[in-house]
Amino acid sequence: MTRTALGKYEIRGHLGKGASAEVLLAWHPVLKAPRALKVPFDQSPETTDKLTLEARTQAQLVHPNICQVYDTDEADGTFFLVMEYAAGGSLRRLLKDGPLEASRVVDWMVQAVEALRYAHSRDVVHRDLKPDNLLLSAEDAVKVADFGLARILQPTEEARTRAGTVPYMAPEHLKGQATFLSDLWSLGVVFYELLTGAPPFRAESQWELASRIMSSDPEPFGEGVLDHPPELWSCIRRLLERDPARRTPSAEALAEELRVLQPLLGPGLLPRAVRRPEAEDLADVPLSQEPTVVAHDWPQGRGGPRRAGSVAPALVLPLQMAWRAEVGSPIVAPPVVGHGLVVVGTTGGELVLVEEAWGRIIERLAVGGSLPAAPAVLDGKAYVGGYGGRLAAVDLVERSVEWEAELGAPVGATPAASKDTLFVPMLDGRLVSLQRAGGAVSATWTAHGALASAPLVVDGLVLVGSRDHRLYALEQEGLSERWRWEAGGWIDGGPAASGGLVVVGSYDGTVTALELATGRVVWQMRLPAWVAAGAVLDDECAYVLAFDGTLAALELRDGTQRWRVRTKGRHLGGPALSGELLVIAGAEGLITARLAADGAERWSAPLEGECLGGPTVAGSTCYVAGRDGSLMAFR
Ligand code: AMP
Repeated sequence: MTRTALGKYEIRGHLGKGASAEVLLAWHPVLKAPRALKVPFDQSPETTDKLTLEARTQAQLVHPNICQVYDTDEADGTFFLVMEYAAGGSLRRLLKDGPLEASRVVDWMVQAVEALRYAHSRDVVHRDLKPDNLLLSAEDAVKVADFGLARILQPTEEARTRAGTVPYMAPEHLKGQATFLSDLWSLGVVFYELLTGAPPFRAESQWELASRIMSSDPEPFGEGVLDHPPELWSCIRRLLERDPARRTPSAEALAEELRVLQPLLGPGLLPRAVRRPEAEDLADVPLSQEPTVVAHDWPQGRGGPRRAGSVAPALVLPLQMAWRAEVGSPIVAPPVVGHGLVVVGTTGGELVLVEEAWGRIIERLAVGGSLPAAPAVLDGKAYVGGYGGRLAAVDLVERSVEWEAELGAPVGATPAASKDTLFVPMLDGRLVSLQRAGGAVSATWTAHGALASAPLVVDGLVLVGSRDHRLYALEQEGLSERWRWEAGGWIDGGPAASGGLVVVGSYDGTVTALELATGRVVWQMRLPAWVAAGAVLDDECAYVLAFDGTLAALELRDGTQRWRVRTKGRHLGGPALSGELLVIAGAEGLITARLAADGAERWSAPLEGECLGGPTVAGSTCYVAGRDGSLMAFR
C-alpha cells in the first residue's frame, strides 16, 4: 500500500531503501518545508530502540555537512525519524554515470572531512561511510547521513562489533576493532571510487573481499592516474594504509592535505589529456627522466660538493643490502646524504637523521605537515619545507633546528641553496628567497601556477618549472624574469643544466633542451608518458625516466636518442647516475642498475615497499626509501 500521509506529514515520494528502513520524501504542512522520513521495515521494539539511539547520536551533531535529524515520531503505530531532506541525492546515484570530475570530488571530500572532524571531536565514529551515505543538498553541499552504526567512543576505545559495509571497511574494522582511523579508510575508499568509478578492492565474494582488504594493496589506479596530479593519489594511498599507525593520522591532517590539493585541480592547471601514443608511435619516441640532484653536500674528507654525474668513488656491482632502517612513516622523496648522515623527510612531518655507516636513527626533528620533497643540504645545514607551510633550517652537526620561517603556504619541492640564499618553491605559485643566515625573506616572485619543481641555481639564474606549464629563468639577484618558455603540461621535475643548456621534462611527455642564456629551444623529444622527474646529465647525454618506465639516453648535442629501454613499473622519481651506472627504483618495488652506455640491466633487487622518490647515490652506496617507511643502503 502506498502511503499518502504519515501523521501530520504529507508523503510526496520515495527516496530510497537502506538495509533496515525505507526513506520517504515528506512535506511538513505547517512549516511548509520538505522532510525525509526514515521508516524502519521492522517495527519491533528492538529496532525502534536502535533507531532512537541513532537519532539521538545524530541529533547531537549539528553541522552544515551532517544531515540533521529533527525528531522521532509515531503515527498509527508506525515509528519514524524526521530528517533534513537532501535534494541532490546520494553520491552513489552520481557514480552510476562512471568516474566523477576530480575538482568536484575533492570539494566533496573537503566537506565530508569537515563533518568527520566535527563528529570525531565529539567522540562519534561513523563506521559506515560509503557513497550511499554521502548525500548532497540542492546546493551541492555534502550531508553525511546514517549514523545508524555509529557509536559514542572514547578516542582510544574500539568499537567492538563488525557491523559495516565490507567494501568500505578498514582491515581493523573487519576484525571488530573500528576506531576514528577506520572512518578515514572508508573515506579513502569512497575517494578512490569517485575518481575511478570502481572501488579499490574487488572480489567475487564478501569473504574473499574481506581477506583482500586485510592482506593486499588496493588495485592500481590504472590509466586514470595520468589525468590527476600525483598528490591526489598519494593522499588516497595514505588513507588506504592497512596499518592504522601509518594512515593519515586524523581528519585534521586529511583536511590539510585536501586544502593543498584543491588549488592543484583548478581548471587550466590540470594536465588533462596526456597524449598516449599508439604502439608504432612509441617506437621512435625518446623519453625523459628525473634528476635526483639533491645531495650536494659531500661529507668532509671525500671531496667537495659535486653534481650527480661526476661521481667517484662509484657503485660496484653486485650491490648488497648493507642496512635497513625503519623510519616509521611513509617516505616519498629521495634520501639526501651529508655529514655522515642520510636525511629523509616523512609524510608524518619529521626530518629523520640516520647514521650513514650503520643505519642507526639518531634524531627525529618535527617540522610539521607532510614533507613531500627532499631537503636541500649545503655546508652542514639541511633546509626542508612541506605542507605545514614552514621552512626549517637544520644544523646537521648540532642535529637541531637552527631557525624556522613561516611561509604561509605549502612548500612544493626541494629548495635550491646558493652561498647566501635559499630559493623556496611554493604550491601557491610563489618563489621565495630567504637568507640562509636566519631565514629573513629577501625577495618574492609569483608564477601563474603551483611550483612543485626543485629550482636550479646556475650562472646567476634561478630556473624553476611550474604547473602553469612554464619554465622560468629569473635573475638570482632580485628575482626579475629574464625569460620564460612554455611546455604543453606541468613541469614538476627539476631542470638540469650542462654546457650552456638546460634540459627539462614535462607532463605532456616532452623533454626539451633550451639555451640557458636566452631560453631558445635547441631540441625537443617526445616520450610515451609523463615526465614527472628531472633528467640527469653527464657530459654527453641526458638520461630521462618517464612515468611508464621508459628510460632513455638523449644526446645533449641534438637530442638524438642513443638508446631507450622499457623498465618495469611506474616512476615518479628520477634515475641516479653513478659513474657508468644508472640506478632507478619505482612504484613496483624494484631497484635496478643499468649501464649508462647502452641501458643494459646489470643488477636488480626487490624492495619491500614502493619507491616514489627515486634512489640517491653517494660514493659507493645507493640509498633508497620506501612508502613503507623503510630506508635502505646498498653497497
Ligand atoms: P539509508 O537507510 O539511510 O541508507 O537511506 C537509503 C537511501 O535513502 C540513501 O542512499 C539515499 O538515497 C536516501 N536518503 C536517505 N536519507 C535521505 C535524506 N535525508 N534526504 C534524501 N535522501 C535520503
